[in-house]
Amino acid sequence: MAALTFDPTVVATPNPSRFKRTMHAAVVEAFGHPLVLREVEIPTVGPGQILIKTEACGVCHTDLHAADGDWPLKPVPPFIPGHEAIGMVTEVGAGVSLVKVGDRVGVPWLYSACGHCEYCLSAWETVCPGAQFGGYTRNGGFAEYVLADPKYVAHIPAGLRPDEAAPLICAGVTTYKGLKETGARPGEWVTISGCGGLGHLAIQYAIAMGLRVCAVDIDDAKLAHATALGAELVVNARTVPDAGAAVKAGTGGGTHGVLITAPSLIAFKQGVAMVRKHGTCVLVGLPAGDFPFPLFDVVANCITVRGSFVGTRKDMAEALQFAVDGKVKADIELQPLSAINDVFARLHHGDVAARVVIDFRKH
Ligand code: NAD
Ligand code: ZN
Ligand code: ZN
Repeated sequence: MAALTFDPTVVATPNPSRFKRTMHAAVVEAFGHPLVLREVEIPTVGPGQILIKTEACGVCHTDLHAADGDWPLKPVPPFIPGHEAIGMVTEVGAGVSLVKVGDRVGVPWLYSACGHCEYCLSAWETVCPGAQFGGYTRNGGFAEYVLADPKYVAHIPAGLRPDEAAPLICAGVTTYKGLKETGARPGEWVTISGCGGLGHLAIQYAIAMGLRVCAVDIDDAKLAHATALGAELVVNARTVPDAGAAVKAGTGGGTHGVLITAPSLIAFKQGVAMVRKHGTCVLVGLPAGDFPFPLFDVVANCITVRGSFVGTRKDMAEALQFAVDGKVKADIELQPLSAINDVFARLHHGDVAARVVIDFRKH
């Protein structure tokens, strides 16, 4: 992947009196430290860009990894996290024709891509070497305004509320795409490992796609929620001695697909042990570090293990349509931006039921 670039002009110096147009934002100033709530300059719209007034922004576990500098590819502080931002377009730059002022759009993790490399040309813009990431290499939605590239925003259909749409533009599209990548067909089984922000949506997408769901988590409350959402089998990987064996016993030999969303390395090792012979294990969670790979089992059982990273713009439109059709609904808890550090602490300790969404109508 190409070296990261970051636009430092967007985070202003902490002196609001110097600027006429300022906004509230939560800024990562140093890895591993609380976010700093401060007034920063509202970004100026350049050619080909749009400005969005944020209505809602979901808090993804990725925002924690970003603020902690967990991954080899690191953002450069100071930066504003948040990649589930939904809002109204308030300004369009020169040359913009794809969106207009007043449109409701989402600013996702896939902030932009080059548009002409072999991956962009084959609808794999998610792995474009020139891709920029919202709330990571570009400032994101934990702010009252956010800049975006109109070619890569999510178009929020009428009838979807901004707070309900927010989790869909990362947690939703990522799990929908990941489920497609399992190759599981209607009537077959899929395991969802990790039933939090991503997982509670994954269960709903899987059922809407005609799949039978086995849910795995380490928290009984998350598993009760999974059952309420339609999971036929639940396994507590903390209390069951061998979670892989439990899934295999309950599904007649393992599930055709496994989607690992848990931000825990143990879950990855266990997840590979839950796949049926010739099945596919899709890795989506991104805890720091590597996990031991049971090479013999994978080879001898013809198992596929693959990574999956958010989704394309086409996946995004499809993922949103499930919600418009009433088949998927994010379970949300609204909080003001000022609560962001408390929300991060709760997410870190597994104390968020599904998804917290920052509501910019609250202060
Ligand atoms: P979350 O904190 O809302 O949910 C995580 C869930 O995993 C919780 O329910 C928790 O109880 C459960 N869990 C923890 N340890 C477990 C274990 N050992 N076994 C089973 N379950 C376990 O987090 P989230 O927002 O859903 O994000 C999850 C992960 O997915 C993060 O690492 C995030 O960075 C990653 N992510 C990846 C992509 C991608 O494109 N690949 C996109 C978004 C998020
Ligand atoms: Zn995310
Ligand atoms: Zn490209």
